[in-house]
Amino acid sequence: MTPSGPTVSTHDVVDEAGRRRTFAVISHPDAGKSTLTEALALHAQVLTSAGAVHGKGNRRGVTSDWLEMERARGISITSATLQFGYGDTVINLLDTPGHADFSEDTYRVLAAVDSAVMLLDAAKGLEPQTLKLFDVCRYRGIPVITFINKWDRPGREALDLCDELTERINLQPMPLTWPVGVAGHFRGVLDARTGEMVRYDRTAGGATVAPEHRMDADRAKNEEGTDWIAAKEEHELLAASGGEFDHDRFIDASATPVLFGSAMLNFGVRHLLDLLVELAPRPTPRADVNGDTRELDSPFSAFVFKVQTGMDRAHRDQVAFARVCSGKFERGMTVTNATTGRPFATKYVQQVFGQERSTVDEAFPGDVIGLVNATALRVGDTLYDGKPAVKFPGLPSFAPAHFAIARPKDLSRAKQFRKGVDQLESEGVVQILRSDRRGDATPVFAAVGPMQFEVATHRLEAEFGTAVALDRMPYSIVRRLTDPAQRNLIDSSRRGEVLQRGDGALLALFTDQTALGVMRRLHPELAVEPLIAST
Ligand code: GDP
Repeated sequence: MTPSGPTVSTHDVVDEAGRRRTFAVISHPDAGKSTLTEALALHAQVLTSAGAVHGKGNRRGVTSDWLEMERARGISITSATLQFGYGDTVINLLDTPGHADFSEDTYRVLAAVDSAVMLLDAAKGLEPQTLKLFDVCRYRGIPVITFINKWDRPGREALDLCDELTERINLQPMPLTWPVGVAGHFRGVLDARTGEMVRYDRTAGGATVAPEHRMDADRAKNEEGTDWIAAKEEHELLAASGGEFDHDRFIDASATPVLFGSAMLNFGVRHLLDLLVELAPRPTPRADVNGDTRELDSPFSAFVFKVQTGMDRAHRDQVAFARVCSGKFERGMTVTNATTGRPFATKYVQQVFGQERSTVDEAFPGDVIGLVNATALRVGDTLYDGKPAVKFPGLPSFAPAHFAIARPKDLSRAKQFRKGVDQLESEGVVQILRSDRRGDATPVFAAVGPMQFEVATHRLEAEFGTAVALDRMPYSIVRRLTDPAQRNLIDSSRRGEVLQRGDGALLALFTDQTALGVMRRLHPELAVEPLIAST
């Protein structure tokens, strides 16, 4: 905060929010997310403080540093933000970790974005982790832009990839570009909105922004011949079957704009940025727990969507990442934590991307701030300034897929073990399931990705001095049991088991689909429902 600086008017806050585009890339490992992130940054000027664009970008290996750190520590340590300026727009790209493993953190990031870019490998199409992340986008109603990557390599047919979107996830593709030349022989794209061809020229390794040449349809036909004609025909075919661009359908998430490109050669990346600027939703007022909206120009408010605790004992720190929902954030502010009612001083606030950290002096709706030494903050907490008080809904818990019984190796540490487990539960490191049958001394850890177990055991040992033995359980299917009276039905069947999660939900666990199927046949009245996410 500049002490003598003018105070920001409400008009400025709404204006600043309107410049923000806050999104995440959802993809399967190897589809090219790191490459795309670098390519996006290449087009942009990296911001050194929120809102202010500085000429000399410091983007030296941001992504690789970050992966290096993940590797060194053997876990996905953080979800962080890359913020950069593109023209007059401030882009906030939130990372969804998920290289080595998948965890709830990945999903929680999607609570903090306004849109997502679904990145597909042209040779592979929809892959398992993309599908899981897409489910969360759909659940939250997040609009998705699809970028079909690696078109410079042999891959599937463009129409085939588009059909897959319709058939497997019921998402109408609305191609805004169409590739000229089959995968592996990429000449450029047909720009569906102008009818022109954009030809891409290769640069060495895509290291610089690839030159683009626009040409009208006649010239494209002359120069590209059958490739151009095929592109036009295919695109028209798709446009005629519901693929005409419709902004409302993008916003209501029933259809997705599709772009073709190559992150590695930097083809189509600028188009993606332009699309984000033009079409992607900007921050909108967020609804609080009562369903009332906190207007953008209300005093500062934010919610914590991720807490990262340093895994290294020597450098133990805890950073809480919060998405700003309203007002202007100024470093040094003392805000209130709505969960505890306690004040929280924001002296140390940073932007964190990989190992690069820079101090944040101010931030606006759509931005992400990293609150350092935030041991008092938990995932889902609301922070606010001034009046009225506000509390946003907590973040959903996701369907776990891995289960393990936890017990302290040394029984004399049972008290510390219990304390540690409570701490992990409150931070959302793993979900904790309990039942009377198992008793309090041996809770069940439940996780979306197995690496969450490693984080949990490491922390119990490092911070609570309790070595932990984990016994993996054979369950892989989980359903929510909506009728508590049926608990015994499952428990006594020996085909499954019911455990209670901290939020009160009863989770019925089964070894596999067959076990669930048998239970259903024996007891057609069984009241279980799938749980992608539950609040
Ligand atoms: P991530 O796991 O999703 O972050 O994927 P990376 O960005 O690390 O990319 C995985 C591999 O695909 C790397 O070897 C990249 O060089 C390669 N790759 C990424 N984008 C492209 C592309 O557009 N074309 C080609 N041919 N290779 C690509």
